[in-house]
Amino acid sequence: MTNQFEIFDERFRSILLPDSKLERLASGAVWSEGPVYLETENCVIWSDIPGNRLLRWSAADGLSEFLNPSHFQNGHTLDSQGRIIACSHGERAVMRLEIDGTWTKLVSHFEGKKLNSPNDVVVKSDGSIWFSDPSYGLIQPNEGYGGTQEQAGCFVYRFDPINLDIDAVVTDMEQPNGLAFSPDEKTLYVSDTSASHDQNGNHQIRAYDVVNDSSTSNGRVFAVIEPGLPDGFRLDKQGWIFTSSQDSIQVFTPDGRLLGKILVPEKVGNLTFGGANKDRLFIAASSSLYAIDLNTQGLKHA
Ligand code: MG
Repeated sequence: MTNQFEIFDERFRSILLPDSKLERLASGAVWSEGPVYLETENCVIWSDIPGNRLLRWSAADGLSEFLNPSHFQNGHTLDSQGRIIACSHGERAVMRLEIDGTWTKLVSHFEGKKLNSPNDVVVKSDGSIWFSDPSYGLIQPNEGYGGTQEQAGCFVYRFDPINLDIDAVVTDMEQPNGLAFSPDEKTLYVSDTSASHDQNGNHQIRAYDVVNDSSTSNGRVFAVIEPGLPDGFRLDKQGWIFTSSQDSIQVFTPDGRLLGKILVPEKVGNLTFGGANKDRLFIAASSSLYAIDLNTQGLKHA
């Protein structure tokens, strides 16, 4: 077991089952991102961003294409009705997949200007949609249709799909990327991955207090991730943070202690909990989709 994990704190062992073992489920993507688990179909949908497509994997059906072209969709999550919410670099928008199979563009502008390239998204229990808007889809030719940045910076937004209000809730980052709430939704975690294009840039997760369910304050560094970048991360029910990095899933307690690593043989992009009991961790890593069964459960929409 030891060569599959690096353990820095004995508490890490509590999330492992006797037979926890990383499996490669599918391969063939250029760069994998944004997985979301659909309980009704027991499948995972994820992004192959440079391939401009979404992939689908289930044990019953194996690997297939779900959407092509995807207009360079990146992060995904589910709303309270189980509909897929998607960040689209190409559309420069947050999209929703309706029950009838059509895509609705939910939000594409802030203060009359185009968004940069929405990257990752989470839905709060009140239905509000919180998403990051770095510039990667504009500056990386193989991850979008290009275009000019119109926003003054790269922000995290809160979008209300009922009244269509949009507010910038985090404005102190260079390249905001992954994001997730603590179990009580009093803390918002957001990664800044500006080190991807700047050797002096950030590779950290920051934490913010959530104020009145609609804004943030008290931003501080939660953890510096190395090697690599905390592109995406999710939390389990006890509030532990499972984040991507160059070589592994790194697991942190809410006080910022690194407990250990689940080693992955490819660079990790993003991850999500799935399975009927939310105890199977699906990992989108470079060309492949991996999974590992764990003795913990992800948050409802994590
Ligand atoms: Mg991302």
